[in-house]
Amino acid sequence: MNEPRKTFLHVDMDAFFASVEQRDHPELRGKPVVVGAPPDQRGVVAAASYEARKYGIHSAMPSRTAKQKCPHAIFVSHNMGNYKEASRQIMRIFESYTPIVQPLSIDEAFLDVTGARRLFGDGPTIAEKIRRDIREQTQLTASVGVAPNMFLAKIASDMDKPDGLTVVPFEQEAIEAFLAPLPIARMWGVGKVTQKKLLSLGLNTIGKLQQCDPKQLESAIGSRAANGFIRLAHGIDERGIVGEVDEKSISNEITFKEDIADRPTIEATYKRLMDKVGTRLRKAGFFATTVHLKIRWSDFSTITRQTRFPVPCSDDTSLREAGMQLLEEHLRHRPVRLIGFGVSGLTETEEPQTRQLNLFETPDTALQKKRSRLSQTTDSVREKYGKNSLKRASDLP
Ligand SMILES: [Mg+2]
Repeated sequence: MNEPRKTFLHVDMDAFFASVEQRDHPELRGKPVVVGAPPDQRGVVAAASYEARKYGIHSAMPSRTAKQKCPHAIFVSHNMGNYKEASRQIMRIFESYTPIVQPLSIDEAFLDVTGARRLFGDGPTIAEKIRRDIREQTQLTASVGVAPNMFLAKIASDMDKPDGLTVVPFEQEAIEAFLAPLPIARMWGVGKVTQKKLLSLGLNTIGKLQQCDPKQLESAIGSRAANGFIRLAHGIDERGIVGEVDEKSISNEITFKEDIADRPTIEATYKRLMDKVGTRLRKAGFFATTVHLKIRWSDFSTITRQTRFPVPCSDDTSLREAGMQLLEEHLRHRPVRLIGFGVSGLTETEEPQTRQLNLFETPDTALQKKRSRLSQTTDSVREKYGKNSLKRASDLP
């Protein structure tokens, strides 16, 4: 749990399209399956099952070539709707662990699980939970890489395919040893031309690149590229997932079946939304600096109002206090069509940004910590015994 730095996962489905076909058509299981154009037409392979890959078939290969390599391969045309549905399921699983997800394609994504470790366990534990959820919910397998950065996670997910989990060490020396034996083609961003140049310098593994003379490399491929590749060869990659934490928000809203003017009904619904958002926020391991209220009136006019916390919070009590205050200020005696609650300005710590200036804990942050612990207990009870197992005394009729 006390891993230093960040933890990223790269999750990649195994032979995705072909696996979906084998799942949906049991007669295809264990057989060399090629998804793509039929071999008598011009067109290429979109995906090949592992049984087909043994014959040297891979995606983007002309279907005719694939047929030559494996005459008994079974060609099926793609069913994009099924793949998209499986993809949606997988992405939803990712989002149940962290809001910071960067899909790379229909069947792979980067996940920043740094904040999620507090609630779900360390990186490898989260990876196993995600692999289990995918298996149970889609009957498909995924391979996952766990690493301190995206470059390493992407390399790792490919190391033990299919159905594999590879954890990259977190210590610098071990990272370099992990990368050293890999062929240069595994480096991200090394195209055919660059690869040729590197090979001509005798740099055929990442390890050779780690030890190369930077000057020599610079003169071959330019200083910018040389610098970048040398850093990656040492496992250094400081990119984060685009649109990270501060642009993220978590919200829930409900449209009533018919417009509601009854205040207790509106309040009860709103309280449930606040608790839902609070649980999601804590699951993601974040603290919020701002809370939002959204009301759509029966005439479709809509207001959104927000308020900021003095220090980032994630506990139910603080969220409710701020949320109820907003509602009291802005709810009118008119029928409501939709009500929503959200949080934004998410941070990974509950320390205010100016925290390093505060030598002593203020009473406010002490109270905050107590409330945080209470909410975490509430969440684990709800998870175990169901959403409605715990009610606040103030909610009871
Ligand atoms: Mg894949």
